[in-house]
Amino acid sequence: MKLVFLGTSAAQPTPERGMTCICLVLDKEILMFDAGEGAQVAFQKAKLGWNKQMRIFVTHLHGDHCVGILGLLQTMSLQSRTESVDIFGPPGIDEFLAANLKILNFGLTFPVRIIRIKEGLVLDDSGYTIHVCEAEHSIPAYAYLFTEKDRPGRFYPEKAKNLGVPEGKLWHELQSGKEVKVQDKIIKPSDVMGDKRKGRKIGISGDTRPTKKLEDFFNGCDYITFDSTYSDTLKDKAIETGHSTAKEAAELAKRACVSNLILTHFSARYDNAEELVKEAKTVHDSVIPAKDLLEIDIK
Ligand SMILES: [Zn+2]
Repeated sequence: MKLVFLGTSAAQPTPERGMTCICLVLDKEILMFDAGEGAQVAFQKAKLGWNKQMRIFVTHLHGDHCVGILGLLQTMSLQSRTESVDIFGPPGIDEFLAANLKILNFGLTFPVRIIRIKEGLVLDDSGYTIHVCEAEHSIPAYAYLFTEKDRPGRFYPEKAKNLGVPEGKLWHELQSGKEVKVQDKIIKPSDVMGDKRKGRKIGISGDTRPTKKLEDFFNGCDYITFDSTYSDTLKDKAIETGHSTAKEAAELAKRACVSNLILTHFSARYDNAEELVKEAKTVHDSVIPAKDLLEIDIK
């Protein structure tokens, strides 16, 4: 599992940074959070695969977070994609996409399903869930939480062999949590497997002020990516425009016991994120500045 940053700038692009787009790449699927203009350009550079199973989650309907879906769908069609794409977003996402797909006469080569989100659980997949929480921005905006389901512990074939369990059906039963009987001896899954592996939690803030509600929502996350549009010297501007400063992001992450904070969505006024990282590090020990095409392995 890895996070891949395709765009890390706020509101307008810079020569080094594209518009907001973050991918959580799983074994068999890509979860994309927001797609600002040019998302397909970075998607191509990151070599994520045009026909991989994919879901897109939009935090809010500002152009720098959703206009890129159009180009992405267009390029995917030109690449002869056949896999369907599910797009989750706030009310209005359906009208935005329907109108554009009709006017631009896309000729999609694959099905697109649009799902309106509201607070709470929006997706319960076999390996993970996605929850949504209201953020605080200049228009209705939402944050997302990816929670991986706990996975069974590692299976040790040598232990099973030593206990006389023959390979095949009985191994599968042990792996799926059932006890098995071998020559009148009961073998428990814990005899041949390691501890249950706890699921990982990753939060995506979108554009927002830091709120108590988001602090609770992101509690205990392994990683969060958080709106860090401004440095603390421009806190007034952050309040006025419904964004956060890097320091505020760090304070929220600290209070929420988040292990690793990723700063992103930087104002184009910053040539680099040095100043923002510095102020966030006065509050939180693990601060990572996002940059375009950065990949972070989620351990
Ligand atoms: Zn916005």
